[in-house]
Amino acid sequence: MPSSSSASSTFQIEYHTCNCGKPSPMRKLKTKENPGRRFLGCGNYEKGKKNCEYFYWIDPDPKLKQIEDKFEALESEKHALHLKCQERENVVQELLKENKKLKKKLTAVQGVVVVYKWKCLFLLCLCIIVVNKED
Ligand SMILES: [Zn+2]
Repeated sequence: MPSSSSASSTFQIEYHTCNCGKPSPMRKLKTKENPGRRFLGCGNYEKGKKNCEYFYWIDPDPKLKQIEDKFEALESEKHALHLKCQERENVVQELLKENKKLKKKLTAVQGVVVVYKWKCLFLLCLCIIVVNKED
């Protein structure tokens, strides 16, 4: 029995024999599900005749290949989304820093406004006093 089911490139086809001891010929399927998929079969196989039913796929299952391709595509999509998320996270962090700076500036400006309000109130009181003294 062949030991590997997937490594068709390293598979030594010529060394395999079926359980009858005959060289196992490589054949290709022409079915809708497995078009062109290669396999090894019993050397005694002929329709309707007795054989050892030796059977081994050389090529991987095409459905499995489709699933693997889809999986790879999803993996790369996941990677791209992860990078996008990281970029967005960096933008959020920058905006949070900017927000912190602006809050500090606002607090400073609010302090200056309070000082000006007191100065204006003081000047207004001073004006009232001066006007009252002139009377
Ligand atoms: Zn056989």
